[in-house]
Amino acid sequence: MAFELPKLQYDFNALEPHIDARTMEIHHGKHHQAYTTNLNNAIAGTELEGKTIEEILKNISNAPMVVRNNGGGFWNHNMFWEIMSPNGGAEPAGELLEAITRDFGTFAAFREKFTAAATTRFGSGWAWLCVHPGGKLEVCSTPNQDNPLMDVDSRGCGAAPILCLDVWEHAYYLNYQNRRPDYINAFYNVVNWAEVAKRYAKSK
Ligand code: MN
Repeated sequence: MAFELPKLQYDFNALEPHIDARTMEIHHGKHHQAYTTNLNNAIAGTELEGKTIEEILKNISNAPMVVRNNGGGFWNHNMFWEIMSPNGGAEPAGELLEAITRDFGTFAAFREKFTAAATTRFGSGWAWLCVHPGGKLEVCSTPNQDNPLMDVDSRGCGAAPILCLDVWEHAYYLNYQNRRPDYINAFYNVVNWAEVAKRYAKSK
């Protein structure tokens, strides 16, 4: 069965003013759709057809670059839409906040580290918060559409991602132009910490 573009759980304009409706519409309907279509075309009739996207990513070093780029793009954006919400922002709570405090010192210190990872990723890529087996948190970044699930050198920390931020220019250029740091700061207003906490509990 072919991979499908997931439906957004909120309207295109729901994340305004932090992420504008036009950016969301193009990002989801054009960019994410293209990764999905290109992934399906690339694996059609190959031994990868029928595997889960996670199975494909875990063995991506054996796959053609077109599968790596579009398979990463498909998975990364699936997660990105889910870890944002119009009701997001503020700070995490419960055991996730405890883990952040334990591993980074304070929530502010975590935010500084994640911001630095997103800001200093040269060119296109992603920033990640990941959890190692046992619960230890780590911030990393990856180039292009690579991600920590992949069996490649550029997979960042290689742990299980629970939060991600797209820093490709297509994610912010219409509204923020070259001001990537402003986009990154705005992102914290829409982070769905309840969803991130759920992923933490499942992956730790
Ligand atoms: Mn994107």
